[in-house]
Amino acid sequence: MSKGGWSCPKFVDDECAILKRACNPGDKGCILYGKALFSSSDSPSNEAFEKRMERKMKRLLKDKDVDG
Ligand code: SF4
Repeated sequence: MSKGGWSCPKFVDDECAILKRACNPGDKGCILYGKALFSSSDSPSNEAFEKRMERKMKRLLKDKDVDG
């Protein structure tokens, strides 16, 4: 993936060096999986991202309870 202002370091010779196939940002195994929310609602990353944010919020709330 090399569109816009960011180029993925794993995009080599027109394919994903991790997945060994065409780049599909947000797929399982992609470095963006679970780290970004994609405008395409069927991106597998979106559900993983939501779960990750939920866990993060729970941790923050738990830490806040302990602190104060
Ligand atoms: S699938 Fe993800 S990790 Fe692989 S080249 Fe594309 S953006 Fe990079």
